[in-house]
Amino acid sequence: MPPSSIEIDAISKRFGRHQALNAMSLAVRAGEFMSILGPSGCGKSTLLRLIAGLDDPDSGEIRVAGQPGKRPGKRRLGDRGVAFVFQTYALYPNLSGYDNIAAPLVMRELNGFERLPGARLLPAVARKRRSIDSRVRAIAELLQVAPWLTRKPGQLSGGQRQRIALGRALVREPSLFLLDEPFANLDAALRHQTRAELTALQKRLGTTTLFVTHDQSEAMAMSDRVAVMFEGAIRQVATPDELYRNPVDLDVARFLSQPHLNCLPAKVILDGHVLIGGEHVALADARQPGTEGIVGFRPEHATLRPRPASATVPGTLPGVVERIEHAGADVFVFVRLLAPDTTCTIRAASHEMSRWAPGTPCAVALDAASGWFFPRRPMQTAALGRTEVAAA
Ligand code: ATP
Repeated sequence: MPPSSIEIDAISKRFGRHQALNAMSLAVRAGEFMSILGPSGCGKSTLLRLIAGLDDPDSGEIRVAGQPGKRPGKRRLGDRGVAFVFQTYALYPNLSGYDNIAAPLVMRELNGFERLPGARLLPAVARKRRSIDSRVRAIAELLQVAPWLTRKPGQLSGGQRQRIALGRALVREPSLFLLDEPFANLDAALRHQTRAELTALQKRLGTTTLFVTHDQSEAMAMSDRVAVMFEGAIRQVATPDELYRNPVDLDVARFLSQPHLNCLPAKVILDGHVLIGGEHVALADARQPGTEGIVGFRPEHATLRPRPASATVPGTLPGVVERIEHAGADVFVFVRLLAPDTTCTIRAASHEMSRWAPGTPCAVALDAASGWFFPRRPMQTAALGRTEVAAA
């Protein structure tokens, strides 16, 4: 089937008193790989279930390939070209890997009589069976599961089971592929490998794919675009690169920072300059002198400099090294600032580690071009497209 586009128009969904989706809208292009990224409970799975037609929205409309999906639950997912892989991919335990992958085709293409073992002798059934066989084997080859086709799910590892489940979803050549945290049960190495394989596979097949995750690195690594969701609504839709460089608000910036975003209260004193804890610091993103808000910067958006014990370095934030955490090639240096009284985290190369023993006076120098200023009130100018500061 050709890939489907999806248009979601102001859909809302309430469970009792809880508003799971709040007039949310989203457009997914045909053939696109889009991740829905957001914290636990923000409504990601609810959204996917509504798109799949497993549940109806209270209001609003979802169009798949331009067709409104009013009460789509009345039709089977497969009939509408939608394949869904859940967090807990339930394979048929008594069927082999082969039969699990073949199951959707057998159900769709053979009637009750034709499924009986004896019916295989009839030429028309044998022809259909051969066609199913060639498609199952092609998918098995693609997913590299051919060696395990004779095994039942109980004899497969979690990763192998997960690929069989993907095979079962892909074999019917869906126009839309919905994946709800399908790697949740895999260990880190297998997760990494499988996500690379799935991305390559999606590019080859060109199937529109919506991938739900709360893992930002997964979303950033796999997607053409990422839709970031909070509290039942989409905050930002952008390419991974755009999202990383230009988060629309503090929540998005925080969610996309590892291990976390440094947040410091600040006031704009001049265009391009802020006051943080009594120090004047250059920050290109700061506009409208007099505006108060939060300066947010990632651990990689600042560097550490030496500082004489009882002095400051102009344009930097004075502090003292609190502790160091190893992160492979890099280290995270936790610095207790003198003002404001808080800790910020700076990424440094591991060979620099010996310079920053706990207790060493240091100065935090922000990269003026990379940090952001999030105003407390919405800015009048739409120049940044940013919204007001969330809970600081
Ligand atoms: P997670 O990442 O933890 O899977 P999520 O973002 O997918 O979370 P949803 O499963 O969509 O979140 O749930 C959104 C909110 O709606 C949650 O607060 C959840 O408790 C609530 N919710 C979901 N389904 C139901 C239901 N059938 N009945 C009542 N509340 C529900």
